[in-house]
Amino acid sequence: MTFILGLTGGIGSGKSAASHWFETQGISVVDADVVAREVVSKGQVALTQIQQRFGDWVMLDNGELDRRALRDLIFKDSTARHDLEQITHPAIRNAIIQQLAAAQSPYVILVSPLLFETEQHQLTQRTLLIDATEALQVQRASQRDQQNIEQIHRIIASQMSREQKQQQADDIVLNDGELTHLYAHLAPLHQHYLTLARAKCP
Ligand code: ADP
Repeated sequence: MTFILGLTGGIGSGKSAASHWFETQGISVVDADVVAREVVSKGQVALTQIQQRFGDWVMLDNGELDRRALRDLIFKDSTARHDLEQITHPAIRNAIIQQLAAAQSPYVILVSPLLFETEQHQLTQRTLLIDATEALQVQRASQRDQQNIEQIHRIIASQMSREQKQQQADDIVLNDGELTHLYAHLAPLHQHYLTLARAKCP
């Protein structure tokens, strides 16, 4: 059994920046957002289930999911959202478990914006929160994605509050300086996780 670290943080907090740094240290990263897209890609069982539940209009002509049409529906219809999650959440969880188990590094990271919200933290032995003020989140996310500010505020409002995440996380890094400052805080944590991983599977 590999030691699994859950890494989370709100939109624009610096999760990807942190997980890329861990990758440079030879640590494998499973990204829940990537898995969520993979499980509804062309030919996957979950995509067939979505088509059966919602109808052919959720499919594009090329056999891929019309993500925008489905997003618009679940935004308005909470039953549809529930039904969609009943299909996707178990598929995502199973795929995450498989990818974590296949990882070969001394420990492995599960990065997820909704680690606590979706109970994915139960798959991990320890959690690390990359934390940032809302102002920094908005500034960084808007520069990165060219998304409008209201949209980013909406996403932040839909995620668990900073305070709740701070209470749940084992470790917290406040990403409020340069990237070098972030990496300097991650380095001793990485050494700690290596020690914990060795203790778990000597
Ligand atoms: P998340 O994955 O949490 O949504 P990212 O890691 O993608 O956030 O960070 C959002 C944007 O801000 C990216 O363009 C990233 O390069 C940048 N960024 C993150 N942390 C810092 C920092 N400490 N200084 C400057 N830019 C940063």
